[in-house]
Amino acid sequence: MTERGQNNRLLIVEQSAALCDEFRSVLSSVSAGPDGSGEPGPGRVERRRPTPGISTFVVETAGTGEDAVAMASAARARGEPYAVVFVDAMLDAGMTGIEAVRWLWAADPELQIVACAGPRSQPWSDVARELGRSDQLLLLKKPIDRDEVRQLACTLSRKWQLSHDASLQMEEMDSNARSATAKLEEQIRLRAEVEEELRHLAYHDPVTGLPNRTYLYDRIEQCIQRSLRSPDFKYAVLFLDLDNFKLINDTMGHDRGDWLLKDVAQRLRNCMRSLDAIAKVEEDVAARVGGDEFIVLLEGIRDPEDCLRVAQRFIDILNRPFRIDGKELVVCASIGLATSSREYLQAKDVLRDADTAMYRAKSLGKGQYALFDPEMHNAAKRRLEIESRLRDTVNRERMRLSYQPIVDVQTQKLVGFEALFRCDIPGLDASPQEIINVAEDSGLIIPIGKWVFRRACRDLRQWHAEHPHSQHLRMNVNISRREIADKGLVESVRKAMADYSIPSHMITVEVTESGIFKDADLALERLRELRDLGVRLYMDDFGTGYSSLACLHSYPLDGVKIDRAFTATMIRDQRYIAVVKAIVTLCRALRMGITVEGVENPEQLELVDSLGCDSAQGYLFAKPMSADDVMILLERTPELRLAA
Ligand code: C2E
Ligand code: MG
Ligand code: MG
Repeated sequence: MTERGQNNRLLIVEQSAALCDEFRSVLSSVSAGPDGSGEPGPGRVERRRPTPGISTFVVETAGTGEDAVAMASAARARGEPYAVVFVDAMLDAGMTGIEAVRWLWAADPELQIVACAGPRSQPWSDVARELGRSDQLLLLKKPIDRDEVRQLACTLSRKWQLSHDASLQMEEMDSNARSATAKLEEQIRLRAEVEEELRHLAYHDPVTGLPNRTYLYDRIEQCIQRSLRSPDFKYAVLFLDLDNFKLINDTMGHDRGDWLLKDVAQRLRNCMRSLDAIAKVEEDVAARVGGDEFIVLLEGIRDPEDCLRVAQRFIDILNRPFRIDGKELVVCASIGLATSSREYLQAKDVLRDADTAMYRAKSLGKGQYALFDPEMHNAAKRRLEIESRLRDTVNRERMRLSYQPIVDVQTQKLVGFEALFRCDIPGLDASPQEIINVAEDSGLIIPIGKWVFRRACRDLRQWHAEHPHSQHLRMNVNISRREIADKGLVESVRKAMADYSIPSHMITVEVTESGIFKDADLALERLRELRDLGVRLYMDDFGTGYSSLACLHSYPLDGVKIDRAFTATMIRDQRYIAVVKAIVTLCRALRMGITVEGVENPEQLELVDSLGCDSAQGYLFAKPMSADDVMILLERTPELRLAA
């Protein structure tokens, strides 16, 4: 079609063979149809040898408009379109010249057309009006001028080429733009997908698929704002903690733990669908916010009492056994609730109170719920205050020990001391028990306990050294639940005794019942390890906790300390005497020692003596005292008998 990138194909539409010849002679040197007649007709091709400066044209001719249109559309279909068509404006066989032009453009809109008009042709202005103005149409007046024809052919074929190239370029640009747009759209779609996934990850917990803390915070803040605007709108936050999840995680592995969490999440979801019937909530959302902690937000509740029913529903639903590896597991939940209040300005305020209430629920036992009240808030604030002051004290080692004498009931001679932790927190008036509880909750009991052991061993060493008549005196040291769980306990006890050369049988470790029963297997293992060191083991505060007499023999114990609540009540209530009698009988049978706490008056002493208890401790003999006071006591009472 093109020579050196130039379309040189021309079509002459002319009824007059003479005029066709004239065009041929102008545009090409060879002018012969396939039959060699020289007559114009479809398919006749004439080739002109290239003359320097002038393009070589392929010239074809058509005698009628119909033929010309057919040739133009066939040529275009073949991919060899004409560049320029010279049309006789005066065609009178078949379509007119103007019709031919119109149809030619219909067949090939790129055609550059030269209308050749004779003196009797329509005026140009009429032609232009009929065909519409177009820069692809020029007028050539007959008789034709050879140079003009050649110039038109050259210029218009060049123009065709330029506009063709431009439209090709445009098409290419268009297609590039289209494919770039498609790529961009694909990238945008992918990005939107990734963003959606990220958003989901940012707002959801990967294990359970429930919303996470971030999402929940947003929702709670919205509720707070709404309830501040319209006080009729009420919401509640339930803080739910699984009571024994850690144990399951530790014993069955994290995979099983994750399964369980998923099951729990599913039960919560199912349960929430039915909440509307219980609490008439507008909307509710459950989220997992930590290891075994879930939070449920109830939006738009009608009556705060409804949330208590909801909490009970959750507890019941989680109380049904879970099946893992074919085994049935019971998972209890403790739930703390906080309901909307004008005091709440941020999500963390509500969550803090729900959390506080949850701790209260836990302290009530397993599978309980508690609704937050401001007193809890004050108690929580106080706990925090004690904790931070205690931490400070532990860091600076500003701790001390008090020692309370323990005496033989029959002889009233001193047999040892109980080391009691003391730490003054100015301005807070916190009892030792309160401080120990905070230390236990916060984990501070671990460093404190280590210190207590070392200090007790050090002081005992000193008393033994300075008062040879006291060398048989023993030391009782308390350990709590958290310390039992600590792997380092046994080693630190061993080291304290070794460092101060205290024979292990001089040390008695007092463990509370709750310390043992919270995690019985672990406690048993730890007690055996302590026993292997050679220290004696006593169960402290016996009778106040969960233990039954029957399980005393299950632990490697050397004795029990009967709680002072019994001592105080025995005098008034015969039933308590009967219980203590039973304890004494059993302990005797198990060859265990019995110490009685809290002996405050001679009647109590007489009673515990008559019941057959070995040793006693109480204000009747001495209150807890400082190490220096113990020194003075040992100095002043060489026979070690304490006046009752
Ligand atoms: P506990 O082991 O039962 O200690 C006996 C508690 O009874 C002491 O209270 C003691 O002061 C008090 N007490 C002794 N005789 C009488 C009496 O005749 N009447 C009355 N009303 N009370 C008497 P304290 O010192 O307040 O200690 C409270 C608890 O704190 C202890 O109870 C023990 O469980 C715990 N604790 C104390 N020191 C430590 C420690 O170093 N480590 C651990 N883990 N717990 C400790
Ligand atoms: Mg004790
Ligand atoms: Mg006690």
